[in-house]
Amino acid sequence: MTLQLYNTAHRKKEEFVPLKEGEVGMYVCGPTVYDFAHIGNARPVVIFDVLARLLRHEGYKLTYVRNITDVEDKIIAAAEQNGETIDDLTRRTTEAYHADMAALNALPPDIEPRATEHIDGMIRMIEKLIKKGHAYEAEGHVLFDVTSMADYGKLSGRNRDDMIAGARVEVAPYKKDPADFVLWKPSTDDMPGWDSPFGRGRPGWHIECSVMSEATLGITFDIHGGGRDLIFPHHENEVAQSCCAHDGAPFARYWVHNGFLTVEGDKMSKSLGNFRTVRELLADAPGEALRLNMLSAQYRQPLDWTAEGVARAKASLDRLYTALQNLENVETGPIEPAAGVIAALEDDLNTPQALTELYALAGEANKATEEAEKARIKGQLLGSGRLLGLLQQSPEDWFRKADSGDISEQEIEQAITARIEAKKEKDFAKADAIRDDLAKKKVVLEDGPNGTTWKRA
Ligand code: AMP
Ligand code: ZN
Repeated sequence: MTLQLYNTAHRKKEEFVPLKEGEVGMYVCGPTVYDFAHIGNARPVVIFDVLARLLRHEGYKLTYVRNITDVEDKIIAAAEQNGETIDDLTRRTTEAYHADMAALNALPPDIEPRATEHIDGMIRMIEKLIKKGHAYEAEGHVLFDVTSMADYGKLSGRNRDDMIAGARVEVAPYKKDPADFVLWKPSTDDMPGWDSPFGRGRPGWHIECSVMSEATLGITFDIHGGGRDLIFPHHENEVAQSCCAHDGAPFARYWVHNGFLTVEGDKMSKSLGNFRTVRELLADAPGEALRLNMLSAQYRQPLDWTAEGVARAKASLDRLYTALQNLENVETGPIEPAAGVIAALEDDLNTPQALTELYALAGEANKATEEAEKARIKGQLLGSGRLLGLLQQSPEDWFRKADSGDISEQEIEQAITARIEAKKEKDFAKADAIRDDLAKKKVVLEDGPNGTTWKRA
């Protein structure tokens, strides 16, 4: 079979054929770095990591780009609230993001452009849009004129009334049309800002991705991804900017969007108390179990994140690693994914089916009697695991960490951060539970005037 992907642009599954034979360019919208990533933010990271692994397995030379949005109003507000400089905040949260995503076995992208490194390109694209009659200046702002583009709304399938009624467009007196969106906005002296022909200011969020994708992958590229909340207005506006700046040249060819993640049945929100950062979750469960739980639903379906689901994922990994442990003295056959796992992933990344195939292999392993058969299964378990980003540690390491509480320095630091967060939110029961859990793993915390230190008992 060949790879089939659901393309939001055409609302159907399509065979994936890259623009250039043997090569793929993929751009995924990355985080706005103002706080720890929550488990919903991790969904596109894990999903597009599986897609990247699959494309590479199929022999494509992949360039995977995932940006960092390091200029945005939420960042300005968070820095002020924390009493932290913007540089310190974005550096700290970017580092935390890298560590958390690595703990979920997500490989880093090939290129990770930061918005602040591409301001010149943004200014140039905005100038082009003004020159071509697609944008206008008003009160220190530059706005995209949506009436200048006949196809505006095509990607999201929204008509004008939906856009405005959806209240996701900001109404402002200087807009010619309520659906016009900001390309550039003025900055006061205490805000990050760059000199430009439109005055000192900063870019809007949408222009960042149009410019960073072109700078890294070119005007037309293969895959553009993100969560489905980004279809409108973010991706619709990227299409508008990029197509109009390049006289209608096509932009992304396949639009791939993951469904939303809820927690224990509800939309995640701080007020409901069900907001879960990846860091907190990592303090309670191995990253590999979080990853397997993430893959337990097909990416376009909603995924309800529950403690029970994580426990089930951990038990599934116990079973898989037991099968590998039983094959410890068997020679490893070719490390290749099982055909069933590849077929499942080629069918629009059907990860639940791929996991079913993996469990079936583990079942076969437990029944196999012939050495050659065992060798083949071992190679296929490891190869299939690699494609899914699972089973890449030794069974000893998995069980040692899970049972004897052997815990790495990184995991200890993550637990300490989660405990500080819990205390900040006055969830003292949780803070105590984290301390107790560390104590069980023979790690003792000492709270002092300069923060928390730890030592192994
Ligand atoms: P943001 O930093 O808010 O722009 O989000 C980064 C990525 O996470 C985007 O691709 C979002 O679509 C995605 N995302 C945010 N919340 C969720 C959620 N609850 N479920 C799935 N994806 C999400
Ligand atoms: Zn984007």
